[in-house]
Amino acid sequence: MLKIAYHPIYKHPLPDGHRFPMEKYDLLPQQLLHEGTCIEANFFEPEIPNDKHILAVHDPEYFYDLLNIKISQKAARKIGFPLSEDLIERERIIADGTIKGCGFAIENGIAMNIAGGTHHAYSTHGEAFCMLNDQAIGARYLQSLKLAEKILIVDLDVHQGNGTAEIFKNDNSIFTFSMHGKSNYPFKKEVSDLDIELEKGTEDSFYLETLFKTLPKLIKEVNPNFIFYLSGIDVLASDKLGTLALTIDGCKKRDEFVLKTCHDLKIPVQCSMGGGYSPDIKIIIDAHANTFRLAQEIYF
Ligand SMILES: [Zn+2]
Repeated sequence: MLKIAYHPIYKHPLPDGHRFPMEKYDLLPQQLLHEGTCIEANFFEPEIPNDKHILAVHDPEYFYDLLNIKISQKAARKIGFPLSEDLIERERIIADGTIKGCGFAIENGIAMNIAGGTHHAYSTHGEAFCMLNDQAIGARYLQSLKLAEKILIVDLDVHQGNGTAEIFKNDNSIFTFSMHGKSNYPFKKEVSDLDIELEKGTEDSFYLETLFKTLPKLIKEVNPNFIFYLSGIDVLASDKLGTLALTIDGCKKRDEFVLKTCHDLKIPVQCSMGGGYSPDIKIIIDAHANTFRLAQEIYF
């Protein structure tokens, strides 16, 4: 059965007027239940993980300053959220959703998180709404239990996975692949093991062609025992922040290709949702829901 991490704290409301769209974390599980893609039993509730899993990725000074809300004003501004205990608890619970998802992915082939993809979190600081890097934490967790040796991170969010690239820059056992908008944040990019930068206005055909020829080759070269997929839907033409121009159907074909490839090669995959900032919330929910619909279709 498809296991999906979800906790009520995911929809934690930010102060009025904050531009980060939190409502999708509430509406997406509702939509999946309503349309029958999922039943209640598909969802599991993550908890606060043991600090040791977080400390395998993040610097202790940073993590404890975060927990005690003691980080500097400048560091807090980089994160972009007004920090609160609840938001930090939320971030830790999201990381547990990914950690537990790793186990479910090994069991069932795939697992998802209705949040996560916090790929702008570096080992020593947070950026752009990301404080703790959930998939980096998941990767180290798998290795610590010897559940995976070689890991591939496929980051198709429109923004580069700069934090993930930094965390694993000297680690040959974790391969970081990021395909993103060249003119999108972060403006000073890190170096992933493979970066593909796409020009403004890139449409379905070029995007998909590039992915279709890259991913199978990459999997062959890296030969991973586990894949993390960051399925951000901010690649859509309608996205407020993204500079690419995919259609909903193109975005769905992207997800289908990634999941089918993992399925056919029998490599467990954990998916975190990542960004999506289209002005119409219906588009956000539909495009994210496609990833979950495909997971059900392909695997179960
Ligand atoms: Zn993004």
